[in-house]
Amino acid sequence: MRVVICGAGTAGCVAAARLSEDPGTEVVLLEAGPHYTPGTWPSELAHAFRIVKESHDWDYFAQAGASPRLVHVPRGKVVGGSSVTNATIALRGLPKHYDEWSDYVDGYDWQSWLPWFCAIERDLQFGQRDYHGSDGPIPINRYPREDWYPIFERFAEAAIRAGHAWTDDHNAPDADGVGPTPFNMLDGRRQTPADHYLDPALARPNLTLVTGLVCDRIRLEQQTAVAVEAVGPDGQHVAIDADHVIVCLGTYASPALLLRSGVGPASALAAHGIPVIHELAGVGCGMQDHPKISYRFWIDTPVPTWPHPWIQVLLTAYADVDGDPRLFQVMPYVGQDTAGHRFTEFNLQVADSRGRTGSVRLQGRDPRLQPVLKMGWLEDAGDRALSIVGGAELMRIARTRPLADVMTPWPNQDDPDHALRTVETFHHVVGSLRMGRPDDATAVTDAAGRVLGLSGISCFDASVIPRVPSANTHLAVIALAERLAADFRAALSAAGS
Ligand SMILES: Cc1cc2nc3c(=O)[nH]c(=O)nc-3n(C[C@H](O)[C@H](O)[C@H](O)COP(=O)(O)OP(=O)(O)OC[C@H]3O[C@@H](n4cnc5c(N)ncnc54)[C@H](O)[C@@H]3O)c2cc1C
Repeated sequence: MRVVICGAGTAGCVAAARLSEDPGTEVVLLEAGPHYTPGTWPSELAHAFRIVKESHDWDYFAQAGASPRLVHVPRGKVVGGSSVTNATIALRGLPKHYDEWSDYVDGYDWQSWLPWFCAIERDLQFGQRDYHGSDGPIPINRYPREDWYPIFERFAEAAIRAGHAWTDDHNAPDADGVGPTPFNMLDGRRQTPADHYLDPALARPNLTLVTGLVCDRIRLEQQTAVAVEAVGPDGQHVAIDADHVIVCLGTYASPALLLRSGVGPASALAAHGIPVIHELAGVGCGMQDHPKISYRFWIDTPVPTWPHPWIQVLLTAYADVDGDPRLFQVMPYVGQDTAGHRFTEFNLQVADSRGRTGSVRLQGRDPRLQPVLKMGWLEDAGDRALSIVGGAELMRIARTRPLADVMTPWPNQDDPDHALRTVETFHHVVGSLRMGRPDDATAVTDAAGRVLGLSGISCFDASVIPRVPSANTHLAVIALAERLAADFRAALSAAGS
């Protein structure tokens, strides 16, 4: 059995490592970006302290939805994918939102997820708690309160004075309040599926990583995947034969690959003269993300110099939206502008966002063209209301002592349209190849990640997630890829027996 995995990002690294544990499975992993072996990482990628937007990025832009602007939506272009360019915040989100997966597919609820979240982590502070893991591949770590910068300590004190609870563990089920941010980070260096899954597995003779290839399309014969066609660095076309293709290009690029392969809504294919191989209405539809709204303040306390941990603390809280308690988060960052002025940015995460009007379409037939992305942020009235109530609470905390003593807000942030004017991505896009039951007209994949109505194609990345978790998505994607890889291996062994 030869499995070709498209995309060596977060999910692709996990899938390649797990599937190649079986010596009877040959795994070929294809990636457009470069591979850095241990010790060769450029410093901007190795540091856990920053989001990387200016290098190793696909440089995609998107239409912002309810706010008519064009916004940069970064995605990692490197082995490790967005796990190598993200902020390393390691949150799970509320159990009840994993329970909501059962609205779409059978067998998925929080109790079924918990063992996977435990299995993937080595929690350095709380590993012995029964809802945590102590010997998984990804280290999880927090800054102790005594090491926080003065502005973060004041943030915690103000939040508590404003009525919020203290929480030492934001990954405890149902935790809310203010407390230390968990990171996949050790000694200031990011810890990713590239280091902890893929690199150790690359010594296996049945696993091959090929970089510098842009996956173009999946060749289908009689509704069965038989090869992946790709474009090399000099524009040369190559085809890699496959018994099974696992798509892991991420929420923007995975649907684009299916569309170029003739799989998707007929109208979206006809627009580019692509023959319909298999009509699937939901490809590239119903995408979700967490809207991010930033609030900025000049500050009058010492700030660290680069490289430094720019996030240490976060607040998770509920806002009342028409009688419904809905979760939001506040993540304060700290820094200096290029002229040395000290500022902090409080980022509001519309965590329990429910809008699903984002979409992915093709700009053209060439795989090197970026897809046409529409984000749908704040198009949903409930999400808009949550952003306004959450923003007002953020500003109330900012005006509470001892935080208020050292902060000067930037202008116009209390305006009712501040969220709509400035909304951006929190980078947690999911659902563009959403899982669902066979009678669900807009489902694309089943509970095992297999593309409905076709043979030999699955998707294991964030695209298949049917309900965005109420937190940053990296841990959820690692757990998902582990789970789908285990299902895949179980199905293979059942078929062989
Ligand atoms: C800037 C940023 C900050 C974030 N911060 C956090 C955070 O702090 N905490 C958190 O939990 N989550 C965070 N996230 C989200 C999290 O990183 C993602 O949810 C997760 O990494 C998605 O994994 P994936 O496997 O779906 O996609 P990716 O990890 O993006 O992998 C996709 C891979 O496919 C490759 N690829 C794409 N198209 C092609 C093609 N045509 N041919 C070949 N290869 C291709 C890409 O280069 C990439 O390696 C952040 C994301 C970003 C972008």
